[in-house]
Amino acid sequence: MSPNAIVSVACIPMRLPFHHWSPPPLFAGRPRDKLDSALVRVQTEDGTVAWGESYCVEPRALKAIFETLIEPLARGKDGDDTTLLPAMQRTLHNLGRSGPVVHALAGLDIALWDLRAKRAGVPLHELLGGKRRNRVRAYASLLQYYGDAGKLDAVTTRALDEGYTEVKLHERTADALAAVRRATGAGIPIMVDTNCAWLPDEAPAAIAAMAPYDPFWIEEPIWPPEDDRALASLRDAGGIPLAVGENAANALALERMAEQAVVQYVQPSVIKLGLTAAWRIAQRCADGAVTCAPQVAFFGPGYLASLHLIAAQQKEVSLERLYVELAHVPYGRSVPIENGWVGIPDGPGLGADPEAELAAGQYSN
Ligand SMILES: [Mg+2]
Repeated sequence: MSPNAIVSVACIPMRLPFHHWSPPPLFAGRPRDKLDSALVRVQTEDGTVAWGESYCVEPRALKAIFETLIEPLARGKDGDDTTLLPAMQRTLHNLGRSGPVVHALAGLDIALWDLRAKRAGVPLHELLGGKRRNRVRAYASLLQYYGDAGKLDAVTTRALDEGYTEVKLHERTADALAAVRRATGAGIPIMVDTNCAWLPDEAPAAIAAMAPYDPFWIEEPIWPPEDDRALASLRDAGGIPLAVGENAANALALERMAEQAVVQYVQPSVIKLGLTAAWRIAQRCADGAVTCAPQVAFFGPGYLASLHLIAAQQKEVSLERLYVELAHVPYGRSVPIENGWVGIPDGPGLGADPEAELAAGQYSN
């Protein structure tokens, strides 16, 4: 077997307990007290270990997908072979062009980038043409406080005190935005993510009500999120820039949205679509009116992959960081956030591996 032959692909769910100084928010209809994704560990014959991350709706389902579908196709293949992932996508296409199988492949894709860069002895950003900046600004992405002005004020103030200079809210009302604007004063960008709050005919008035408080962008204003015609007409109505992408059905759908400038910011999630696809979308946005601003609501190898992407892409954007307290902060020592900034790791591959307790599955349940 060649030294670069893949000998194992393992899925290690990573369910990080968190709190955000408020009762657990609802996610998919249930109270949420853990932030879930899954580590993907790839090992080659020569002992090299590389890491990726997949979106994880249900750990048991994702593990089964890796065991029954992903590992059998990857085992024995050359980890350097850039045709491996496209071939697997094609082989598995009739299991769905969006959803958990695609998310599993996204995690494998990130791990293969880590593997290739490690074997080449270069930081991942070198494989993307090199970093264009040595550090990127992180923005504090607050979870939901359901319009509680007191809590929004307190948490925003806390983030500013820690050195963050940009904030994102997951709120739906002008009053919530107003509370945060009062806390920040003018000059601090505030993004507003509504998580698909409005039907197309409800959105214009709701956004107009927010305008006096100067939101930087409105993220996912429309239900359903893939309604590109409704998004385009909302964009044409003018006013505040729009952002969309984390719920894109697949990479091509988001690439088309970028190509057609349906919104001003497209937000690929590398743990859903893979780094290869997200980088292609970033390149589609290299010049022109649309900016690639990856969605990064996760903390593992996908977070680092997004950091390398942001470091290497032409347009400067900030890195999303969920503003919560975690039971364990991945890369808290190796790639720390300091005063609202993150340095770009220059070690081989992603530049850091998950800590031993994460790799051992300490947060798998
Ligand atoms: Mg979002």
